[in-house]
Amino acid sequence: MPKLLILGGGYGGLAVAQRLDAVSRGRTNWDITLVDRRDFHLLQVRVHEVAANTIPVEKVSIPFSELLDGRKIKFVQATINKIVPGEKKVETSAGTFDYDRLVVALGSETRYPPIPGLRENAYPMKDLDDAINFRKAVIECFRAAADPDEPPLKPVDERLTFIIGGGGLTGSELAGEMVDFCSDLAERAKLPQNCFRVVLLEGADHLLPALDRQYGEYVRNELRQHGVLVATNAMIEKVEKGTVYLRGGKVVRGSIMCWAGGIQASAVVQSSFEHLSDGRIPVDEYLRSKEYPEVYVLGDAASIKDKRTGHTVPWTAQYAERQGHYLAENLWDEERGLKSRPYLPFSLGTAISIGRNEALTISGPLKLTGVPGRLAKNISYDNYEWNIRYKPRILKV
Ligand SMILES: Cc1cc2nc3c(=O)[nH]c(=O)nc-3n(C[C@H](O)[C@H](O)[C@H](O)COP(=O)(O)OP(=O)(O)OC[C@H]3O[C@@H](n4cnc5c(N)ncnc54)[C@H](O)[C@@H]3O)c2cc1C
Repeated sequence: MPKLLILGGGYGGLAVAQRLDAVSRGRTNWDITLVDRRDFHLLQVRVHEVAANTIPVEKVSIPFSELLDGRKIKFVQATINKIVPGEKKVETSAGTFDYDRLVVALGSETRYPPIPGLRENAYPMKDLDDAINFRKAVIECFRAAADPDEPPLKPVDERLTFIIGGGGLTGSELAGEMVDFCSDLAERAKLPQNCFRVVLLEGADHLLPALDRQYGEYVRNELRQHGVLVATNAMIEKVEKGTVYLRGGKVVRGSIMCWAGGIQASAVVQSSFEHLSDGRIPVDEYLRSKEYPEVYVLGDAASIKDKRTGHTVPWTAQYAERQGHYLAENLWDEERGLKSRPYLPFSLGTAISIGRNEALTISGPLKLTGVPGRLAKNISYDNYEWNIRYKPRILKV
């Protein structure tokens, strides 16, 4: 049996494995192995909600044993150390694997621009551990502030000022939900509601620079009403513990900082393939590496041009998942002697939460705000979970 090795069980990798098994109804000839360093699938799009205590850890982690149960897919929990595409080999903490076809779906990692002190003094917001560590640190700040032996709190005290660098999707969503989290913590510690502040710093001239300006402006106004101090054109030049220095001489002081200002393809991907400056691997219209046609790359690891718009496909879970489905269907078509079709990216829309209970959801001509926007966002989360968790068991697809 030819070997299909899938590296990474995130949105893209899991979608390939589940879909190939489903469309072929278990009859595929591929001997499928999925490798991930975790034994659970992480719902990464909700990681910042764990950081802001909106949802518990269990809501974002689903064991692979459950997701792959009853399918002809081997799962190996291991860390990928090196990909050697010239020899069709992958070196992992559980030994070396060879393959006939390889799917690289290893996602991305936090990118730190060369800002002195940033890496050392800011919490990343990418992985589950990042979220847990950040949440613990915020709780600790409130615990210390409520200590009767500490000097009394001033309104908007620096000890309870939380700085978020990067006003993209992650930073903006985290900022809104942090206000609700801090409000809960203040109430629990019997501290006044005006003792804390959340500051969001964005270097561009509007939030959500990857989206249309009007949406960035909308989210900025909503976050401000929610109590977030939003600063755009705020270029961070240096970070020290508790202090962020901005271009132009402004200084922001706070207790802890989170960096949500950028990502890059993971180090193991970058060291194994020729890549672009952001670490991504350029692929052709069939998601094949341009260097090694037996290697497919998808999700955050890939740089994919949308031929219709000329733009690069954004790094989001919805694209990664659909790329996984596309690839699985193409592999099954190929097995049956059918012609491969090129990948055509499309988006169902975007949803940006503003605090725990509101969101801006845009889908084609539909634009929902406030509570209906949040309900629509929650439905999209539930829909994904249904698709990977229950649909395969109930409908056997
Ligand atoms: C806080 C946050 C909020 C987001 N919100 C949204 C949103 O609202 N909507 C949206 O569409 N997108 C959102 N995104 C982006 C989205 O999560 C990513 O684009 C998506 O996860 C990419 O999917 P992927 O399959 O490429 O990688 P991932 O889902 O990251 O999966 C990669 C997998 O590879 C594994 N892995 C990585 N390195 C190794 C290694 N060396 N060895 C073994 N295993 C390894 C990981 O454990 C992981 O399971 C958000 C991201 C973050 C961080």
